[in-house]
Formats: sequence, C-alpha cells, structure tokens
Amino acid sequence: MSELAELYEQIRTCTKCDLAKGRTNAVPGEGPATATIMFIGEAPGFHEDREGRPFVGAAGKYLDELLASIGMQREQVYICNVIKCRPPQNRDPLPEEMEACRPYLDRQIELINPRVILTISRFAMARWFPDKKISEIHGKAKRVGNRVILPMYHPAAALHQPSLKRVLEEDFKRIPQLLKELATLPEEEESKPAPIAQQMSLF
Ligand code: URA
Repeated sequence: MSELAELYEQIRTCTKCDLAKGRTNAVPGEGPATATIMFIGEAPGFHEDREGRPFVGAAGKYLDELLASIGMQREQVYICNVIKCRPPQNRDPLPEEMEACRPYLDRQIELINPRVILTISRFAMARWFPDKKISEIHGKAKRVGNRVILPMYHPAAALHQPSLKRVLEEDFKRIPQLLKELATLPEEEESKPAPIAQQMSLF
C-alpha cells in the first residue's frame, strides 16, 4: 500500500475526536500524489460526508468552474480540508478537532509536497497566518519555506456574496502566472524568494 493510501486508511478509521461518531464517511482528500497545487478547505459538508470526497456539493461545483476559468481541471490538483469529518450542522471546527486532525494534514502536505498551497478557508489560512484577515491578504502569494501560500476566499462564501465572487475570480486569475514563474525558477534558487512571490508578497 502506498504511504498516501495508508494515510487515507488511517483517516477513514480515525476515532480521535467525537466527529467520528456522527460521520457517514471521513473525507481524506483526493488528487494526484504529484500535484503542484493543493487546495485546503475547511471541513466536509453534507454531500462530502455522504460521498467521502471533498468539495462535491455546490461549493465544489463552483470550484470546478473556477479551475476551468484558468484552463485547469480538478483532476490536476489536490483537494483536502483542515478537518476530515463533517461537524454537526456544518458548524465551525472546534480547536480540539483541528488539533486531532492536524497530523493528517501535516502528513498530506509532506507526501504531496505541493509548490503552491491555496487556502480556501479561514481555518486553513490561520495555519500560516493566524493574525491576518482574509480581506487584507486574499490573492497575495507569500513564500513560506519552499512553498508559496496563496490565501483565497472560500467558494461557498463567494456563492453567498456576489461581491466576493468577483474578487475570488480575479484572485484565481493569478494562479497561471504564479505557476509559470515557479516553473522557470532554477532548482538552486529554491531557497530564495520567487520573483512572483516577492512581487505578490504584500503582507
Ligand atoms: N466546504 C469545505 O470547506 N470543504 C468541503 O469539502 C466542502 C465544502
């Protein structure tokens, strides 16, 4: 069994917090093990819990559209959540739930080793930027170690607020350029900031 498959098995059988009692399925995440881009959402909702897959409801359909708008498909990216089981009535994850789930996300990031992480929930953003507001840093890439972190609004928030939809769509348009610049960065330059990250690192 691959290390990723082993991790998925651990997540699917996890009982580290009470969310295990209410779930239909845990939702480990999905996408190629070699993905360059990783999206990190908040937590599974109703449809995700049913299917055991991330972002398969309305927010997921919109995410697919956003990807299509920049010429990408869901199959090319890795998608997961901060917590892997659905909270009751989709309430915010509790600190102890996030703490229990943290090693799973840590391991996912380690195994996939993406160059770019798009945080699409405030809980994912808080992992790297706990003191920042999404309204201030959305769409601004920041180099963290060997990766670039790009915070975005949650697709569900944009579906509920038309003004955010425009913002999210504009932020998405930055992704192709960011990937292009990262791809042309020589290996030995990896420890130095990427030009685009420098340019976009506004916070
Ligand atoms: N919202 C999320 O944050 N994650 C999902 O998987 C679905 C909706």
